[in-house]
Amino acid sequence: MSGTHREHYLKVLGIDLWVPRRPAAPATVRPAAPAAVPPAAQSAAPAMAPSDPAAEQGWAQLRAEVAACTRCPLHATRTQGVLGVGDVHAQWLVVGEAPGAEEDRQGEPFVGRAGQLLDAMLRAIGLARGDNVYIANVLKSRPPGNRDPRPEEVASCLPYLRRQIALIRPRVILAVGRIAAQNLLATDAPLARLRGRVHSFGELNTPLVVTYHPAYLLRTPADKRKAWDDLKFARDLFRRTAAASERL
Ligand code: URA
Repeated sequence: MSGTHREHYLKVLGIDLWVPRRPAAPATVRPAAPAAVPPAAQSAAPAMAPSDPAAEQGWAQLRAEVAACTRCPLHATRTQGVLGVGDVHAQWLVVGEAPGAEEDRQGEPFVGRAGQLLDAMLRAIGLARGDNVYIANVLKSRPPGNRDPRPEEVASCLPYLRRQIALIRPRVILAVGRIAAQNLLATDAPLARLRGRVHSFGELNTPLVVTYHPAYLLRTPADKRKAWDDLKFARDLFRRTAAASERL
């Protein structure tokens, strides 16, 4: 990669830790060119209108149910339910933990500082919020004080995410953080053991890859390099599944 190209790429990322610390060996997997990201898609976009009436009805129902949901006590302390954001025909689904304070206020996942880093992570692999990516959380309501979700809250809320996944039918799911990964995979294995492998989610056996939560990376920037490995892993998996489906 040329110096200018790298400079531009890092600027797009907004992350200096992705810079190799020592002269790097020739990269075997190169980051996607920043030009692949349409500038207009770099900000949050509203969900695209589904073309299929049944899907449209499914989304309308989900939106209404989440807005009125009282399945768990979190409804009493939240400002609003946060269903998700992005392209309802997306081939990528990013799943986080739960809305934080800003997400609770704005009604959109990952809009705080962690969201900015998530956007940069997506851009690093040529993706952008609202463009072939849908972003959701395991929980649709904010846990007070941003505490971890409780098992009964997850049990109440996960069916909403399952319905979203059934409607979107993503090609790859990227679970960000331990809470999302453990709940989607029904395991208590530590994140370190869940990274670097292709898991499978649900009846459709959707390939699922695990990486760090951007809020964790803000606290532990030294692990951004490992997150970058995860993102390349996910991107390569996506390319392989795309190539396989073209051969069918
Ligand atoms: N963290 C999450 O896991 N989800 C959000 O929407 C925001 C922060």
